[in-house]
Amino acid sequence: MADRSTIFKTTTQNIEETEELGVLLGELLVSDFCVTLSGDLGAGKTAFTRGIVDGVTPGEGDFVSSPTYAVCNVYQTAPPVHHYDLYRLEDEDDLESVGFYDSLGSGILIIEWAERIPSVAARADVRVAIRRTAAEVREFTIESATERGAEAVSMLKDTVRKSCS
Ligand code: ADP
Ligand code: MG
Repeated sequence: MADRSTIFKTTTQNIEETEELGVLLGELLVSDFCVTLSGDLGAGKTAFTRGIVDGVTPGEGDFVSSPTYAVCNVYQTAPPVHHYDLYRLEDEDDLESVGFYDSLGSGILIIEWAERIPSVAARADVRVAIRRTAAEVREFTIESATERGAEAVSMLKDTVRKSCS
């Protein structure tokens, strides 16, 4: 079996670098890819998503805002990006009412607070954990959970290394 677990750790020094990292990941995402984002409030999950959306379709990142109250925002990228924040959901039974099952198979999923609902967390191709280590410094741990996730993570790793050297 091919290696499903690839880890890439990197650090960003400001919000622009976080958005740029998101762009590089977004450029690698296709069809129904699922990325989960974890990290405390203010870690940079939404900033990173702005980059991802811009990486999928340049210019669309400007429309990204936090879906905390809406639970889901959909961006008209190609393919569409469904950006979820599950913070306010109680349990799996709430997924139906927020349209989660309808989003499956109709675009890329980016999910904040997926860890609140294990059946959602289990859908991840790539898991991104963001940790604030100083006012403007964020430590990223980007880990694959599927084979195609592993491909994306290793390509991301190569691209970041090239752009830094
Ligand atoms: P979350 O969605 O995780 O709650 P947001 O993306 O909404 O976080 O907010 C991140 C906040 O942290 C923003 O106010 C941003 O300006 C600030 N920030 C400072 N340094 C960084 C960094 N390196 N990466 C991302 N955000 C940063
Ligand atoms: Mg957020």
